Amino acid sequence: MKTIIEPFKIKSVEPIKFTTKEEREKILVEAGYNPFMIKSEDIIIDLLTDSGTSAMSALQWAGIMQGDESYAGSKSFFRFEKVVKEITGKKFIIPTHQGRAAEKILFSILGGPGKYFPNNTHFDTTRANIEFTGAVAEDFLTELGKHPEIPGDFKGNMDVEALEKFIIEKGAENIPLVMITVTNNSGGGQPVSMQNIKDVRAVCDKYGIPLFLDACRFAENAYFIKLREKGYGDKSVKEIAQEMFSYADGATMSAKKDALVNIGGFLAMNDEQLAMNARNILIVTEGFPTYGGLAGRDLEAIAQGLEEVLDENYLRYRIKSTEYLGNKIREAGIPILEPPGGHAIYIDAKRFAPHIPPHQYPGQSIVCELYLEGGVRSVEIGSVMFGKYDKATGKLISPPMELVRLAIPRRVYTQSHIDYLAEVIIEVYKKRDSLKGYKIVYEAPMLRHFTAKFEPIEG
Ligand SMILES: *Cc1c(COP(=O)(O)O)cnc(C)c1O
Repeated sequence: MKTIIEPFKIKSVEPIKFTTKEEREKILVEAGYNPFMIKSEDIIIDLLTDSGTSAMSALQWAGIMQGDESYAGSKSFFRFEKVVKEITGKKFIIPTHQGRAAEKILFSILGGPGKYFPNNTHFDTTRANIEFTGAVAEDFLTELGKHPEIPGDFKGNMDVEALEKFIIEKGAENIPLVMITVTNNSGGGQPVSMQNIKDVRAVCDKYGIPLFLDACRFAENAYFIKLREKGYGDKSVKEIAQEMFSYADGATMSAKKDALVNIGGFLAMNDEQLAMNARNILIVTEGFPTYGGLAGRDLEAIAQGLEEVLDENYLRYRIKSTEYLGNKIREAGIPILEPPGGHAIYIDAKRFAPHIPPHQYPGQSIVCELYLEGGVRSVEIGSVMFGKYDKATGKLISPPMELVRLAIPRRVYTQSHIDYLAEVIIEVYKKRDSLKGYKIVYEAPMLRHFTAKFEPIEG
C-alpha cells in the first residue's frame, strides 16, 4: 500500500518559532513547570488539545466572507440548519457558542436534584453542567474500556446491562435522558459501535427515556464503524452518521471538534416543547435563535466544515495519521493506551516511568521532558488533573490511570511534524530512568491543573 498523504495542499502557512533547549529550560521554569502557562509562540508542536485548533479550508474561509450578519433570519443560519438537519435528521437545530453552552441549556431544563444522567463516559464539561443543577452524572463504560493495555474495536461502548440495572434501581421517571459520547473523549477517543447505540436505544425504549448523543466526534466514530463493524464496510460515512443519529432523540455538539472550526456548537432535537424551552434560555444566555452565540460567518464555516469532515479521504488520513504516531512509538517500546484513538494518543505514564510514584506525578514529568526535549506541548491526565485530597489524612487519592495525552489538531501538522514528534518522544523514553518526580508548590482550590506550579524533586 502507498503512503497515505495529507488530502490537502497548503495555501496559507503559520510560521513556527524555534527555540533552543537552553531557552526552553528557562521558559519551563518561568511557567512553574506547567505547560498550560507557556505562551503558544514558545511551542514548536502543540498537542494540548484538538478542540478549536483545526485548520479551516479555502471554502470555509470563503464562507467567512459570505457570512450574513443579519440579527434575525440570516441566510447563513439557514445553510447551517440545512446541513445539520441533513446529518442528524433532527427537527430543531439551535446554534450555541460552543458545546458546553448546548449542555448548559439542555441540563438546566432537564436536570435538578434527584435526577440522574447516565453516559458511557461524561466529558468533564458535561458532568459539570449536570452536577451544577444538583443532578447526578453516572458513567457506564464497558469493562474492556477500563483496561488501557488491551486492544479492542469498540472500547467506548456503554455497559448496557449495568445501564438497565441502574434505570430499574433509580426509576425511569428520575432519568430525563441517557447520553452516549461518540467517540468517548475521556476514555481515550475510543469509538462506540452501531450495535451498542442500538442496544442502548432498545433499553431507552423499554423505559420510555430519550437518548441523546454527545456528537463532538461523530464523523471519526462513523469512520471507525465503517472500518471495524460488520455490514458497514460498503456504506458511506455520511449514511453511517445518519444511522447513528437516527437512534437518538437529540444531540449536543462542539463544532470545535468534527465541524473543523475554531468556535461553535449546537443542540439538536425532535421534541418541540423541549426545543421551545431551549430557545427561551438561548435568547437569555446566548442570542436570538438564528445565531445563538455565533456570528453569521461562524455558521457558514460550520456548515462547510460539516460537509468536509464526512469526506472519506479526509477521515482515512485523520484516523491513519493518529494511528501512525501510535504505531511508531509503540514499536519503540513505549506503552500507550491501546488501540490508538481517533483524535489522540495517550502515553501510559505508569509504565513509562514506573520509578515515579503517582503522588510525584509521573505524567507531569513526561510532559515537562517532552517540552524540554523538543518544544512539544502535551497534557497530563492523571493525578494532577484528577487527583483529590483525602479530607481526613490530607493524602493524595490518585485516579486509576496516569496518562499523557497527545491530541492531534485537525489538518494542522504534516507527516514530518509527526515523525519529529515521535523522535522527541523516543528520545525522552531512552532516558526515562533519569526522569524526576515533581511536587506541587502552588494550586488553586478548583481545576488546579490549569494554574498549578511545580518543582522537580531533586536527588
Ligand atoms: C469538547 C467537548 C465538549 C465541550 O465542548 P466545548 O466546545 O469545549 O464547550 C463536550 N463533550 C465532549 C465529548 C467534548 O470533547
